[in-house]
Amino acid sequence: MRQVTHWINGKPWSGSAARQGDIFDPSTGEVQARVDFATPAEVDLAVQAAAAAWPAWREASLTRRVGILFRFRELLVTHREELIGLVSGEHGKVRADAAGELDRGIEVVEFACGIPHLLKGEYSQNVSTHVDTYSVRHPLGVVAGITPFNFPSMVPMWMFPLAIACGNTFVLKPSEKDPSASVRLAELLADAGLPDGVFNVVHGDKVAVDAVLTHPGVAAVSFVGSTPIARHVYETATRHGKRVQALGGAKNHMLVLPDADLDVAADAAVSAGYGSAGERCMAISVVVAVDPVGDELVSRIRDRAERLKAGPGTDASSEMGPLVTGPHRDRVASYLNPDKTAGAEVVLDGRGLRVPGREGGFWLGPSLVDKVTPGTPVYDDEVFGPVLCVVRAPSFDKGLSIINANPYGNGEAIFTSDGGAVRRFEAEVSAGMVGVNVPIPVPMSFYSFGGWKNSLFGDLHIYGPDGVRFYTRGKVTTSRWKEPAGVNLLFKQHRTSNTGQATQETAMADVVRAALVQQKWTGDKDSMVKNAASALRDAAAQGAKVACLQELFYGPYFCQVQDPQWYSWAELVPDGPTVRLMADIAREHQMVLIVPVYEREQEGVYYNTAAVIDADGRYLGKHRKNHIPQVKGFWEKYYFRPGNLGYPVFDTAVGRIGVYICYERHFPEGWRALGLAGAKIVFNPSATSRGLSEYLWRLEQTSAAVANEYFVGTINRVGVEPLGDNEFYGQSYFADPRGQIIGGCAADTDEEVVVRDLDMGLFEEVRHLWQFYRDRRPDTYGPLTQP
Ligand code: NAD
Repeated sequence: MRQVTHWINGKPWSGSAARQGDIFDPSTGEVQARVDFATPAEVDLAVQAAAAAWPAWREASLTRRVGILFRFRELLVTHREELIGLVSGEHGKVRADAAGELDRGIEVVEFACGIPHLLKGEYSQNVSTHVDTYSVRHPLGVVAGITPFNFPSMVPMWMFPLAIACGNTFVLKPSEKDPSASVRLAELLADAGLPDGVFNVVHGDKVAVDAVLTHPGVAAVSFVGSTPIARHVYETATRHGKRVQALGGAKNHMLVLPDADLDVAADAAVSAGYGSAGERCMAISVVVAVDPVGDELVSRIRDRAERLKAGPGTDASSEMGPLVTGPHRDRVASYLNPDKTAGAEVVLDGRGLRVPGREGGFWLGPSLVDKVTPGTPVYDDEVFGPVLCVVRAPSFDKGLSIINANPYGNGEAIFTSDGGAVRRFEAEVSAGMVGVNVPIPVPMSFYSFGGWKNSLFGDLHIYGPDGVRFYTRGKVTTSRWKEPAGVNLLFKQHRTSNTGQATQETAMADVVRAALVQQKWTGDKDSMVKNAASALRDAAAQGAKVACLQELFYGPYFCQVQDPQWYSWAELVPDGPTVRLMADIAREHQMVLIVPVYEREQEGVYYNTAAVIDADGRYLGKHRKNHIPQVKGFWEKYYFRPGNLGYPVFDTAVGRIGVYICYERHFPEGWRALGLAGAKIVFNPSATSRGLSEYLWRLEQTSAAVANEYFVGTINRVGVEPLGDNEFYGQSYFADPRGQIIGGCAADTDEEVVVRDLDMGLFEEVRHLWQFYRDRRPDTYGPLTQP
């Protein structure tokens, strides 16, 4: 049987649950799946994952957050039919109702895409001499949502899109009756590029809810459900120091005045009373008919309700589905018993409904009870099913006072053609949402949703502008800066990089500014080293935090000939003079350096090597070129022993980097090995010349970047050298994990320092989009490693 489990830290939970719940197909009454119930330990896992993800997510730029939300919105549209099927299949509502709720949820995502505008602060200049004051909104941290069964996709989306857009991380505890939609939403968020841990789902009942409410790591709780549980959530969570908005049940009225268009009113009563089988917190459950319209209105409602076609959501002609569970159907049906109607007139009794072939389903047909009086159970209780009450009122004032005496205050509607009556109703009715000739006045996503009285505990409504306030807290800064002290106001040097854009001194935390040094042969080793040092200084001045030199950077490309004199150019690594000098340069500029040199292990044993030095000057290790060519103009086997250190990656101040030297780029295995070891940037120092393979230069490294989903920086020397007729064609460049060249290649005839910004956010984004690591099949690769 299908099993639904928690979604924690970007993947399904792999444990085994001590308790599970049944998920029914409400149209047949059969159990279709089972859902794991979380213990406090699983709730803690989810909160911990969310807490761990928070610092980076809070720091993620607004454009990055919005980019993910835009992609999520597109995925919701692409997967619309599938989501509708999930909602309808577990809740029971017909597809049109499921589509409606999904669309309302998508609208909230669209609103959340405008978060850069919504999070703008205020600024007052010169509140006192040289003093400015400004306000900003900060995210809260880990926030939780607890949602009801009746809108399994919409109500979660009332919460998490804005919470996440504001920079919070989220733990959702959806209804255990129809939990699959939430898990699918989590998968789509991951597909959209949301980092692991930002959105988590735990399933369960009171045990899981209470663990959320009391968890010290949760900063705020949004709840939507019935009033008794809303009160419990509000009291418990606030006692534990959390910010809470708890939306409860409802008993919504529709006041119909004698001058109303009765056909419009009857249509509205039927769609708002029986739509989604009455399982809507904004359903109309009471029509207050002001004399003398009662008899006529009841007759028109009955005529319409009788014609409603009940059937499963899978049948496109169904207009009303079953109730969510058997016990709930029985409870709703019990309100038609005389002890609960207490003398009122049952005009339509849905208890006899049979749906052929689905006799076991949780069916109850449209039911209408007339001449109901407040103080009886069918009026006082939230029935939450297709039972519509009609209360007769002698006047507008009496009708309004009945509505205002009701303990709930979600949505209240008036049907009339009198503008004066509308104004009074709107001003005096005690409810959070008001409909005028509209039965279900659910505000659009750019307003906020919430009731009064027992329909909401807390101060702020849900989604819309109140949602932004709920998921953030204010901070006001008052700052004083004296007149400039006469220092050089350009003390932060802004230079122009090769991207042509002004470069900033401080790069964003998730952007690595990186450099490649493309050199010409000068004629001697000393001046090559000096040239490289000066190029590195230039890169550092442009803000580069990591730089790579070209292959065998201090020599000519002597492999054009086979001559033993070049053996003497080899040096120890790390204890030779060049690597030691480069360690000093790295420390001075606080820049990670990759230094390709000719390495001597002992006399007669030499390697083509790159040393890796951290930003504090520490030598981290080396890569020795594993793939060694031996063809005309590239006589490398004459000089180098093949590498014997594998494919190491190095943890540096700018993250994990790998090195893959020149000819190696033709072998996909090493690229992959570096990716599997966690490299985020791979440098490929090269010496490659015009001829048959020039077109490969932009093909292979970009392909390697995309196949392995990391950044590649590839460097080529430039110019013709006296040892041979190879013309090295430069064109050094960086490729991003999408395989795009960043900001163009370097020149093909001149020296150049290529400085580019590598947006590490893209790394994560692409990995979440293209699952080339998840979908690998190492179990089928055995033959590839046979000699
Ligand atoms: P419910 O209150 O039974 O459940 C809501 C959530 O609380 C679920 O996730 C559930 O697992 C959890 N829960 C249930 N019992 C609990 C307990 N004893 N302790 C802790 N947590 C518990 O509501 P429901 O039956 O799923 O949904 C229908 C109710 O939701 C109706 O009352 C409806 O009016 C209300 N609702 C209100 C709004 C609104 O906007 N005000 C919107 C939708 C639904």
